[in-house]
Order: sequence, then structure tokens, then C-alpha cells
Amino acid sequence: MKAFPYYAEHENFIDAVTKLVQQELVPHVSAWEKAEHFPNEVFKTLGAQGYLGLLISEEYGGSGGDYKLAGAWCEAFGEVPSVGLTVAVNMHSLVISHALERFGTAEAKAKWLPKAVLGEAIGAYAFTEPGAGSDLARIRTVATRRGSNWVINGSKTFITNGARADFILVLTKTDPAAGYGGFTTFVVDTKSKGFKVSKKLHKLGWHASDTAELTFEDVEVGESCVLGKIGEGWGQAASNLNWERLMLTLTSLAGARMCLDSSLLYASQREAFGKKIEAFPTLARYLSEMRRKILLGESLAHHALDVLCAGGDCRVLVAMAKRMMCDDAVWIADKAIQIHGGYGYTTEFLPERWWRDLRLMPIGGGTSEIMSNIVMKELSR
Ligand SMILES: Cc1cc2nc3c(=O)[nH]c(=O)nc-3n(C[C@H](O)[C@H](O)[C@H](O)COP(=O)(O)OP(=O)(O)OC[C@H]3O[C@@H](n4cnc5c(N)ncnc54)[C@H](O)[C@@H]3O)c2cc1C
Repeated sequence: MKAFPYYAEHENFIDAVTKLVQQELVPHVSAWEKAEHFPNEVFKTLGAQGYLGLLISEEYGGSGGDYKLAGAWCEAFGEVPSVGLTVAVNMHSLVISHALERFGTAEAKAKWLPKAVLGEAIGAYAFTEPGAGSDLARIRTVATRRGSNWVINGSKTFITNGARADFILVLTKTDPAAGYGGFTTFVVDTKSKGFKVSKKLHKLGWHASDTAELTFEDVEVGESCVLGKIGEGWGQAASNLNWERLMLTLTSLAGARMCLDSSLLYASQREAFGKKIEAFPTLARYLSEMRRKILLGESLAHHALDVLCAGGDCRVLVAMAKRMMCDDAVWIADKAIQIHGGYGYTTEFLPERWWRDLRLMPIGGGTSEIMSNIVMKELSR
């Protein structure tokens, strides 16, 4: 039930990714979920096959693809039954490396991108702080001048890949009095003195993915670590977040499709009262409602993706698509559990993991409530 009509030119690519998912990841994912860790070799395997450089130019070893190709990847790779693993990979390759290429200095790009594309260096993105998530403008991490360098102090939390990252894009305040013009992002080498992973967080889902609290204590970085110019961090963050939200939307769509597929299969096999359970109108209604929500989410997400590919302003469309698809994916996973009955509640079947994993999607990258606010602001204009 893949969205082939949307990716006519990428069918072979989707087939290859599906094969990779089935052969190289699915057999191991349950063990990684249990161990609350997936090995860095996953990045290396994907890198060796060229999948970590989809949006990165050939100059740095990537394939120079566009957002459409990246979208095809999100939907095909999103079938891995471990959303935490999927997003950890996509944050590294599609969001962080991409942001570094767009905004980084030649020196920083040469240092990190060739390794990032091969999966030999892993990236993280650190916006959120213990006291500032939705309200990012409240962050307290600061960067101050020391000669020609910058010194970063503060802490970040909920950072995907935070415990394993080699480089981290860190949003700071360089001029607290300058409002939105006072934010700057730096790329920080995690070998830097003063950087510490202060805590690994345990979560409802996303078990294979590491999520960490980070401390920056007098971490000194050079001018080449500034992304863009001093004061440009807020605009960069908004632009990166927009694409991250669409990536999360397409990943949710893939997860929702997996829940529908397994529900259709289960309902066609399980019997009760002398019938296959798919024959019961209540369950048939659940299944058709799941399909309807997927079709709607798919249409809106692809409309946003097309506008993004054409270089248009898709911020409101992305907010609408994320709000709808990420909320609906949780509803769909919940119904998948219901259709599987008692088995759906056990770890022997996947719906419970999809539910736990997809539950983060209306929170991460901007909550559903913040997505609604973006839409409402636009309407009130
Ligand atoms: C597993 C995981 C991985 C993550 N990965 C990363 C990462 O790699 N990098 C990173 O920087 N961050 C990451 N995050 C953080 C994530 O983006 C934030 O959790 C999210 O943006 C919400 O912020 P918060 O948790 O501070 O919630 P809060 O902002 O405190 O929100 C609490 C509640 O209040 C609501 N609320 C807040 N403001 C408004 C408003 N104006 N109107 C209506 N409702 C409002 C919210 O919608 C929510 O329901 C991750 C989080 C998790 C759990």
C-alpha cells in the first residue's frame, strides 16, 4: 500500500530500500529495541550503500538528491518497526547533515560531511532545553566571545543521538538583548573539553534510539563552527524545523500504513463466532476509517512536499499535515491494537510498539498544539 503514484520516478529506489529494510534491519530490530540501543554499524551499512547522503551534494560524497527523493526514503525506510531508529537515522542524514551543508562554513563541511555521509561520524541537533521546548525563544544556553573564539555554556535535553553523536548543532543565544536576531547555531565536536552527556533518558517508546541530556561547560569553539552568520540561528532553526516536521509526517504515514497492513492481514485470518473478524461491521468501519485517514494525511503531506520541492512557502501546509498525520497515526496504531485483541497488547505482535513509538510524533519537532497555533495565526492574518 505504498504511495507509488507520488513517487513514479523513484519506484526502483523504493524497492531497493524496502529490500534493505526487510533483509538488514527487520531481523535485528526486536533485539535492538530490547537492548535499548542499535549499533553504530547501522549508520555505516546505510552509508556504504549511499543512503545517508541523499540530500548532500556530490562534492561531499552524497547523491545530490532533492526533497522528493528524501520523501521516498522516509516512506520506505519508515516501515522499519522501530520509529526511534528510523528518526535517529533521518535526523542525522536528512536534517542535521543537510543543515550543516546549507549553513556551515567550508571548513566545518569539509571536516564533517564526508564522514557523515559514510556513517563514520554521527550528528545530533540540540534545540530543546529543560526549561524551553515549544517556547524555544526561552533557551538559556549562551555563547560568549573569548578572543576570536566562542565559549558555550548551558544544557540541552531530549537530544536524539545525543549520547552517540560526534558533532552536534547547538542553538545558543549570542545576544540575549537582540530578540530573534540574538540566536546563533554552532557545530560542536563532542570531543571538545567541557562537553558531557549528563544523562540517558528512558522512554515509553523509541527504545532503540538514544535520547540524552547534554551539558556544555565552557566549551570553546572557533569561528569556523558558526553556522551562517552570528545572529542567524533563529531563521535557520525555523527552516530546518519545517523540513524536520515534514520528515516526521512522512515517517508517521509509513508507520500508519504498517498498522493498517497488519490489521487487514490479522482481520482476514482471525475467526470469532464462526466468521473472519473482518466481516464484523464495527471492525470493517475501523479499517475503512484507518484507510481514509491515511489517504487524507498522504494527500496533504504530498501537497506540502510538492510545494517545498518547488521552493514555495509550505510552513502552514506542513503544520497542517503534521498535526493531522501525527495525531491520526496514533489513532490508527491504537485501532490496530484493538483489532488484534489481546494479542495486540502483547509484545509478540507489532501494534503495541507502533503505538508506543508513534505516540511521540505529535510531540517531537513541535507539538500538535503548536502546529494548530501556526495554522490559526495564519488564518487570523
Ligand atoms: C524522544 C524525544 C526525542 C527528541 N529529540 C529532540 C532532538 O533531537 N533535538 C531537540 O532539540 N529536541 C528533541 N526533542 C524535544 C521535543 O522537540 C520537545 O519535547 C517538544 O518540542 C515539546 O517541548 P517540551 O517537551 O518542552 O514541551 P512543552 O513546550 O513544555 O509543552 C508541554 C505542553 O504544553 C503545550 N503548549 C506549550 N505551549 C503552548 C501554546 N503556545 N499553545 C498551546 N499549547 C502549548 C504543548 O503542546 C504540550 O502539550 C525530543 C523529545 C523526545 C521526547
